[in-house]
Amino acid sequence: MELYGWGRYPRQQACLVLPLSVTQCADTLKRNAPLIAYGLGRSYGDSALADQVMGMRYLDHFEAFDLQSGVLTCQAGASLDAILRTFVPRGWFLPVTPGTRFVTLGGAIASDVHGKNHHGEGTFCAHVQQLDLLLGNGERVTASTTENTELFHATCGGMGLTGIILSATLQMKPIVASSIQQTTVKAPNLESVLEAFAEHASTTYSVAWIDCITRGKALGRSLLMLGEHATDGQLTVQTKPPTPVPFDLPADLLNRFSVQTFNTLYYGRIRQAVSQQRIAFEPFFHPLDAIGQWNRLYGKPGFVQYQFVLPQAAGVAGLREVLSRIAESGRGSFLAVLKVFGPANANYLSFPQAGYTLALDFKAEPAVLALLDELDAIVLYHGGRLYLAKDARMSPATFRAGYPNWQAFEEVRGCWHAHGKFASAQSRRLGLL
Ligand SMILES: Cc1cc2nc3c(=O)[nH]c(=O)nc-3n(C[C@H](O)[C@H](O)[C@H](O)COP(=O)(O)OP(=O)(O)OC[C@H]3O[C@@H](n4cnc5c(N)ncnc54)[C@H](O)[C@@H]3O)c2cc1C
Repeated sequence: MELYGWGRYPRQQACLVLPLSVTQCADTLKRNAPLIAYGLGRSYGDSALADQVMGMRYLDHFEAFDLQSGVLTCQAGASLDAILRTFVPRGWFLPVTPGTRFVTLGGAIASDVHGKNHHGEGTFCAHVQQLDLLLGNGERVTASTTENTELFHATCGGMGLTGIILSATLQMKPIVASSIQQTTVKAPNLESVLEAFAEHASTTYSVAWIDCITRGKALGRSLLMLGEHATDGQLTVQTKPPTPVPFDLPADLLNRFSVQTFNTLYYGRIRQAVSQQRIAFEPFFHPLDAIGQWNRLYGKPGFVQYQFVLPQAAGVAGLREVLSRIAESGRGSFLAVLKVFGPANANYLSFPQAGYTLALDFKAEPAVLALLDELDAIVLYHGGRLYLAKDARMSPATFRAGYPNWQAFEEVRGCWHAHGKFASAQSRRLGLL
């Protein structure tokens, strides 16, 4: 079948096997290696694509849950959506959630995903107590921060290249109500939004929507959304299914004019400098999940998401340089999302480092790919890197410069029988074995 990630670029003919049990996983690996695991395909590019792909979505059983401590063990194909629907009514929330809940536990670990609370609570894997992994030689091992430590740090953020994650044990977070107390701060430009982030550094969740079309004094004008779990109210989950985009929209519907109009309306809809409201957790954490298959908005050619991080010291100047280059090119992004990261962790290929991260969407077209090459140079110059879960096009040189631990990662893979057994279109493009 034809397989693709969330950006629908690139596309690949693949043989997809969907095991129903751990035994079938091991069998599939024996017969079809080299292969790569596929969760729910919410990575944007080619990290879950290969000729041979093992779909993990049917290994989705909950294995154990301690209602007192909030420690959950479940199979790696369980979605974060299923975990939230089951445990929010019982007063437990995910410690970290990405901007969509339609990802698997295995995918969240393999990308070591971050949420709106990285500055205070780190990545997803900081809350993983242990994981159960199927190795390239067919053996099963447990890895944690105290057992097979190097394998654990290579698997967390390792993009499926160390083995198949079969299950994991996760510390959930207690909540007393499911809604979020949201504060929105209107920031007229880039400097003011970074100041606002700093001023609200003790807030649990923070994220800014940023207008990257407007130039001049208003470059980087933003809406900063801050959130805290409500301390009273009910424990509920929304049951309304997403409204689908029924077909691929024409690719030229998104142009400078339509994006600018959207950005002006979106920024202008908030009138006060600071406003407050109580909202359900779903629109706060996962606003796009309300629209099914929203990736069709970019038309058949698909789109690329470009997410980079810049170290704090380089942040303001570097962000200004990137945003100015995008504004000059006239190729804007509907969704430009800015977050502040806390310190990096010990996982070899984990993306976050202390500083600022910006995620932007672009139509997949030759001129955009050339623009992104220019942006890569700016990001690397400032000591930053690109996020592998969003990547569909970075060069091996950009990867190596951004991820200096790549050789140590390869050594761990070698020791644990991964070479020649696990490979994706992305790992081949990046020159990994
Ligand atoms: C709307 C949207 C918002 C997003 N927001 C964020 C965000 O805020 N923060 C963030 O960090 N990410 C974000 N993402 C990216 C997403 O969280 C990651 O790409 C995540 O890895 C996707 O999980 P998946 O189950 O769909 O995995 P897939 O996309 O299918 O696979 C991703 C990687 O995980 C590997 N993998 C999957 N399952 C396993 C397994 N069982 N064993 C070993 N390897 C496995 C694959 O081989 C691949 O390398 C967002 C994505 C979307 C579409």
